[in-house]
Amino acid sequence: MNKNITVLSGDGIGPEIVAEAIKVMDRVCEKYGHTFHYTYVDIGGCSIDKYGVPITEEGMAKCKASDSVLLGAVGGPKWDSCPPNIRPEKALLAVRKELGLFANLRPTKLFPQLADSSPLKKEIVGGGIDLLIVRELTGGVYFGPKKTEEVNGELVATDIMPYSEHEIERIGRVAFETAMKRGKRLASVDKANVLDTSRLWRKTMHRLAEEYPEVTCTDILVDNTAMQLIKNPTQFDVLVTENMFGDILSDEASMLTGSIGMMPSASLSEGTLGMYEPIHGSAPDIAGMNIANPLGTILSAAMMLRYSFDMAAEADAIENAVNLVLDAGYRTGDIMQEGCTKVTCSDMGDLVTERI
Ligand code: NAD
Repeated sequence: MNKNITVLSGDGIGPEIVAEAIKVMDRVCEKYGHTFHYTYVDIGGCSIDKYGVPITEEGMAKCKASDSVLLGAVGGPKWDSCPPNIRPEKALLAVRKELGLFANLRPTKLFPQLADSSPLKKEIVGGGIDLLIVRELTGGVYFGPKKTEEVNGELVATDIMPYSEHEIERIGRVAFETAMKRGKRLASVDKANVLDTSRLWRKTMHRLAEEYPEVTCTDILVDNTAMQLIKNPTQFDVLVTENMFGDILSDEASMLTGSIGMMPSASLSEGTLGMYEPIHGSAPDIAGMNIANPLGTILSAAMMLRYSFDMAAEADAIENAVNLVLDAGYRTGDIMQEGCTKVTCSDMGDLVTERI
């Protein structure tokens, strides 16, 4: 298969970690007979330095015209004083909007070899965690009408949380399809005992569930979900929820692993175009030192193959290779454990590549 990938390396450790993911994807091409064409586009601080904007119109057009987008990270202290409209993060919001990325997939995977990094007790997470949160990204209270006004001599603020049936249905479909590619268990998270938007959410999910008889779909209230993620995270396979609940729950879930450098993510549009990126930032404190953990970006590349290119075997090959490298005791500094071998960012990329 031929695929065009736009590569947004960005700032800080971005170029270092993205280079390792490309190394791994090139090996996948070699082994499985694919050709990936990479188009590099500046984004964030490096684009501000060159062009005065965090992403150029030309760069954006390249993202839109490609089959998928791989992102490192943007930002750093150098650009903290830029005016709000040209800050590095503006480019991320612009890409999400232009590409119509409405579904955010955040896996929380704790490899059993790294169970010690989790803040949870070993009896809870000793066998590892493997869950995935599907978050609606463009609707709900973050985008609804909002106002602050004076009423009876005091300020009153209001944020409205609108959700239409078609918005719920399209994120629901992504969740059911994702569950079909994983353990076929879906938890639909809402607050249907209080919110009308949640009651519509629940009704729509129940209607969709009839189309996916292979998926076991259960409803769970968001407050209970927050507790269950700590008490018994291994009970979950895929969770689906609206924007604000997903924002909070996905950050809670990411802390269960205790290793920010390992975590990938995907943002998907209605078609197959998606943007794939590690959840961490540009880590300016370690940039240019070749010590960053590239596994979050490498696992993001695996998600690209699985969700945008429908290459399940190739994605499995990358994830298995990461598992084997951890089994063999290789660690970057952020996940270093006693008795393991400390390796650099580029060593880690090589070690994964060799195992594909
Ligand atoms: P950060 O995630 O960059 O770093 C937090 C800590 O984790 C740092 O100590 C860093 O060294 C470490 N870390 C992060 N990724 C690592 C990796 N792969 N390997 C080893 N260690 C790693 O968060 P921050 O320091 O709050 O933000 C730094 C910059 O990144 C800021 O400018 C922020 O705006 C930006 N940021 C960008 C994104 C993005 O591009 N999506 C996301 C978050 C933050």
